[in-house]
Order: sequence, then structure tokens, then C-alpha cells
Amino acid sequence: MKLSKRLWAVAQYVKKEARVADIGSDHAHLPIWLAREGDLAFAVAGEVVKGPYDNAVDEVKQADLSERIAVRLGDGLDVINRSDQIDTITICGMGGQLISDILQRGIASGRFKQTERLILQPNVGEAQLRAFLTSIHYEIVAEEILEDQEHIYEIIVAEPATEPAQLSIDEQIFGKFLMREKSAIFKKKWQAEHDKLDYILGQLDQARDDVTENVANIKEQQRHIKEMIQS
Ligand code: SAM
Repeated sequence: MKLSKRLWAVAQYVKKEARVADIGSDHAHLPIWLAREGDLAFAVAGEVVKGPYDNAVDEVKQADLSERIAVRLGDGLDVINRSDQIDTITICGMGGQLISDILQRGIASGRFKQTERLILQPNVGEAQLRAFLTSIHYEIVAEEILEDQEHIYEIIVAEPATEPAQLSIDEQIFGKFLMREKSAIFKKKWQAEHDKLDYILGQLDQARDDVTENVANIKEQQRHIKEMIQS
């Protein structure tokens, strides 16, 4: 099985002998790869939708990994129990808001102990997710930005904070590590966001209502982006 570049990058942040809960596992590609190529001790592949759940069951059976990967049908972290002794949670390919909701519900149900390493790959809503992680006293310990099949993805790795964690507005929006590194892909992503705002400005230009405030907001966002990618 060939893992996508995106999930391969996520896999690099899973520690040896980890006990992983992969939530929204779809085909269980990530835990299967970790069991074959890494040093996975145990994984739960959680899925809330029956079709992807069935796919995961089939793929794990075919890979002959049913003893090390438990595929379970259920919402978010409801699929894990204390006896699973999960130490790593991966949630990939969802929006930042949905990832935050899953973690928040996990706190309420007691299934997310807040000691686990989190490896998250939001498709959108990265800033909101970073703010949420800070609010639950997690600190971001690594970030990565990569391009796979013409999409740009961010990976956020977080662990319980050793001291009260705080993020500046820039760190929330752009990512503490990513804004320091300012890779070519980072610049490409933010140039594209800048261009999207240009398009919105063009639309607003044709509006009949008073959009002065919206225009000023968007121009301010563009100025902020330019400052970040040009400095
Ligand atoms: N994690 C895989 C990846 O990154 O390639 C699959 C990503 S797929 C876009 C998102 C998956 O999350 C879908 O299979 C969907 O059914 C599942 N999902 C969405 N909400 C969920 C929830 N609350 N609990 C468990 N799975 C969920």
C-alpha cells in the first residue's frame, strides 16, 4: 500500500511503540502503514460513517492486522476506552472546527485524557484549531506545510503545555514554526489567500450596499499577509 505524501508526513510524527487512535480513519491507511513500516504497538481506527468503516474493516483484514488494529464504528473519541491506553491521537483531513469539536467532546466524555500527543491535519480552519489547542493548555511542538496533489496542507503536532501556552495573533494565523521557516510552499499558500481576497474585493466593487468597512477589513488582511510573506 502506498501512503499519500500527506499521510506519510503525518506518520513521521508518530513515536515508536505508540498506541494510536486515528479518528476519521476512512480506509485505515494511516494505521496500516504505521503497523507495517513503523513500530506501532496498537491502533484504533475510528469511523462514524458505515461505508468508510466497512472499507477500514476490509483493508485491515486483508493486511492481516486485526490483532493490532481495532476498527470501530462511532463518533469521534467515543470509540476509545481507557483499556486501549491510547497515547497518540491523529485526526486528519477534516476542518479545524470539526477537529476541535471532536476533542472538546472527548474532554466532556473523559475519553480524551489531555495527556496524549495530538497529530492533526486540518484542511481548513488552522487558526481556529491553534486557538482551541491553546485554550485546552496544549502547546504546538511542531508544524509542517506541504503540497500534495496540488493541495497545500498543514500538520500541527501538539502536546500538553509545560507552562501556560500563549500564541500571538500571527502565530495563530500563520503558525509559530511555519512563519519562522517561511518556506516556498508557505509563501505560495499565503499568496493564494491574498489573491482570493483580491477576487472578493472585485465582487464587493460591484455591490450596491455600503461595503466600505468590509473593503477596509479585507485590505487590512491583505496588508498583513504581504507583510508576512515579504519580510
Ligand atoms: N483521515 C483520512 C485521511 O486523512 O485521508 C480520511 C479523511 S476523510 C476526508 C474524513 C473522514 O472522517 C471521513 O471518512 C468521515 O466519515 C470521517 N469523520 C467525519 N466526522 C467524524 C467523526 N465525528 N468521527 C469519526 N469520523 C468522522
